[in-house]
Amino acid sequence: MTIDQFNFAGKKAIVRVDFNVPLDENGKITDDTRIRGALPTLKKILNDGGSVIIMSHMGKPKGKVNPKLSLSQIVDAVSEKLGVKVQFAPDCAKAGAAAAALKPGEVLLLENLRFYGEEEGKPVGIEKDDPAYEDAKKAMKAAQKEFAKTLASYADCYVNDAFGTAHRKHASTAVIADYFDADHKMLGYLMEKEVQAVDNVLSNIKHPFTAIMGGSKVSTKIGIIENLMDKVDNLILCGGMTYTFAKAQGGHIGNSICEDDKLDLALDIIAKAKAKGVNLVLGTDCVAADRFANDANTQIVPANNIPDGWEGLDAGPETRKAFAAAIEGAKTILWNGPAGVFEFDNFTDGSRAIAEAIAKATAAGAFSLIGGGDSVACINKFGMADKVSYISTGGGALLEAIEGKVLPGIAAIKGE
Ligand code: AMP
Repeated sequence: MTIDQFNFAGKKAIVRVDFNVPLDENGKITDDTRIRGALPTLKKILNDGGSVIIMSHMGKPKGKVNPKLSLSQIVDAVSEKLGVKVQFAPDCAKAGAAAAALKPGEVLLLENLRFYGEEEGKPVGIEKDDPAYEDAKKAMKAAQKEFAKTLASYADCYVNDAFGTAHRKHASTAVIADYFDADHKMLGYLMEKEVQAVDNVLSNIKHPFTAIMGGSKVSTKIGIIENLMDKVDNLILCGGMTYTFAKAQGGHIGNSICEDDKLDLALDIIAKAKAKGVNLVLGTDCVAADRFANDANTQIVPANNIPDGWEGLDAGPETRKAFAAAIEGAKTILWNGPAGVFEFDNFTDGSRAIAEAIAKATAAGAFSLIGGGDSVACINKFGMADKVSYISTGGGALLEAIEGKVLPGIAAIKGE
């Protein structure tokens, strides 16, 4: 079933969205991209004459109630964007009566699903090395089914529009789908768009294909890096991982961030790129700082010869040129992860050079896909969101999809 084929008139739809929006210390939303992303789906249901039960997680409360992660903080913002006064259910597992009372056109937002350990289905308060862990895990899996069944009981149909969590087999993202038949579960518009964007990169690659992987660590990106090696022409590895590569090759990296247990892996990646004829672009110079702060003193030094007491926090000018050269001629571009500590205004030049080159290539006809919270934040910070082809709401989910993995959230609906 697709959302366009379904008529929601008189129906109650339970919709999994990703409203895990960043909040400031006063509980104010600092970036509402994710809420805006779900609006087309929610509005379609309301315009058809249906009612909506919205469910989401926020942060990582790990099965415990945490007022700082309460979705009550976003009720007004969702109401304003939807143009409907949104009701709030303070306990997502006890919202049966509120859901039953919903009339067409009405909206109920459930409290943070992850206040229940059942959402993620991992035992709470017991360590993996505890002999009782396996039993606790089994019990939790059973409880997760019950939790999903309760959520399912609120509605006539289920819509999953949370791409950001589609790589998780949680109660609300996958297990719940078992309680609806194939004609009563579907992907939302945002999810459909995300799947299409991934498909553009995977099955319709136009060469040259340049992938840019940044961020702090190699370890969290290794799966995608290895997978991309078979597809890309240019692979830019930047951000904090630069220094693991520099050290692995005998460089001196001062206080720069480094994964000492990944030095062999870095050498392996370099060798594989060579064997496969991939143009691997690593930082050659960097902006080094004398401390981890925006107003630190800085100097441009070789990425493999950083003085003691200094740390590389951004790509240097020569590196930025090399990035641009590998991006500008590309026809397909994937970017995940910043090239420096972009949260500090004085260390954004590397990420900005990437964003500018992507915008230029996109204007010249390339398909550019940007994903992951930090790269998206970069693009927004530079005001360049309309200069790229597609901005994904997924980080981990996007990378897993591009690795070619089947996402449980999508499989649960499509039955793959
Ligand atoms: P990740 O969560 O692995 O995608 O990494 C994102 C984070 O990497 C951002 O918060 C950046 O500030 C950080 N980052 C990027 N470059 C560096 C660097 N050279 N040193 C330390 N952190 C970095």
